[in-house]
Amino acid sequence: MSNPSLLILPGDGIGPEVMAEVRKIIDWYGAKRDLAFDVSEDLVGGCAYDKHGTPLHDDTMAKAQEVDAVLLGAVGGPKYDTLDFSVKPERGLLRLRKEMDLYANLRPAQCFDALADFSSLKKHVVAGLDIMIIRELTSGVYFGEPRGIFKEGNERVGINTQRYTESEIERVARSGFEMARKRGNKLCSMEKANVMESGVLWREVVQRIGDTEYPDVELSHMYADAGAMQLTRWPKQFDVIVTDNLFGDLLSDLAAMLTGSLGMLPSASLGAPMANGRPKALYEPVHGSAPDIAGQGKANPIACILSFAMALRYSFDKGDEATRLEKAVEKVLADGYRTADLLGEEGRSPVSTSQMGDAVIAALDASLT
Ligand code: NAD
Repeated sequence: MSNPSLLILPGDGIGPEVMAEVRKIIDWYGAKRDLAFDVSEDLVGGCAYDKHGTPLHDDTMAKAQEVDAVLLGAVGGPKYDTLDFSVKPERGLLRLRKEMDLYANLRPAQCFDALADFSSLKKHVVAGLDIMIIRELTSGVYFGEPRGIFKEGNERVGINTQRYTESEIERVARSGFEMARKRGNKLCSMEKANVMESGVLWREVVQRIGDTEYPDVELSHMYADAGAMQLTRWPKQFDVIVTDNLFGDLLSDLAAMLTGSLGMLPSASLGAPMANGRPKALYEPVHGSAPDIAGQGKANPIACILSFAMALRYSFDKGDEATRLEKAVEKVLADGYRTADLLGEEGRSPVSTSQMGDAVIAALDASLT
């Protein structure tokens, strides 16, 4: 049987730096766990624009459609700020998400004990936190028509349209229920059914899918504004949250930052299953290209490393190996390794990007003894 295939798109800024550490880990799995991947690498974002005049070449798009999973670093940078909107680096990422139809965005918010002091909330509120937010990614108000800025009498009016079809809600609801089954069997769906018809439909459809297909999963509903309050009040009441594109954008950022630094946050965007049963999938850290620290060896590679752990779990059915990698990260943090972004008042000196990667490899080695 051939090896699973992985397309790596390091991108711009710190993207290539953090991805270099993931490459070490991928090599480690090949050498030490008999888990080899067919890895190919290509350009996305500003570097693709520099070479091809487009942030995502058609050939790269075609490769992304063929592989078992795509792993992306980050795109963008000040050099590209003045480019036309149609060729900005971020367009490359949006094209990948859209053409791969990646409708379920998985954003875990997990607080490692060693970093619990780092949250803006009290330690006991976040210590041990482990929740998963699933955000609908390809529809809703960011895509609905009509949209635009129009003239109306003597003034202009800005319009965006919140629009969801039943099938769009059904498929992301199923992603939520499936995820809940793999975790604590609890799903909370968030919308604004009190003031939005799209929210009424969302609630009805999620409830129907729950009743008919997932009666074993404990389902609750919450208005998204109340959800934001509850997430800051007592986040550990949640296990899996499923919500729409707009609310998910806000709530997942809120939840993620409960846990500390941007340099720690992985994500996955999943689509429909391919012929081999694996979902179309793109894994990427939540952070951007961090031009302020690019090229200085200061970037924290953990978000990208944990994104690869998500790939092991959700694309390659290697939950045990994903847990091994997550535990290795946990150990490294518990042992006191900190990149600059994780240094609080503690007076330690930071490790570099590659030293952090090497420490994770050493912890992986230790996991075998
Ligand atoms: P950013 O995430 O790049 O950086 C925000 C801050 O967090 C910076 O101070 C940065 O140094 C720090 N930071 C981010 N990741 C870090 C890491 N791994 N280790 C240590 N520190 C880290 O966001 P920004 O500054 O708003 O955007 C910079 C560029 O990235 C822009 O061009 C933006 O469009 C792009 N961007 C891309 C993505 C993506 O590729 N998915 C996401 C967000 C922003």
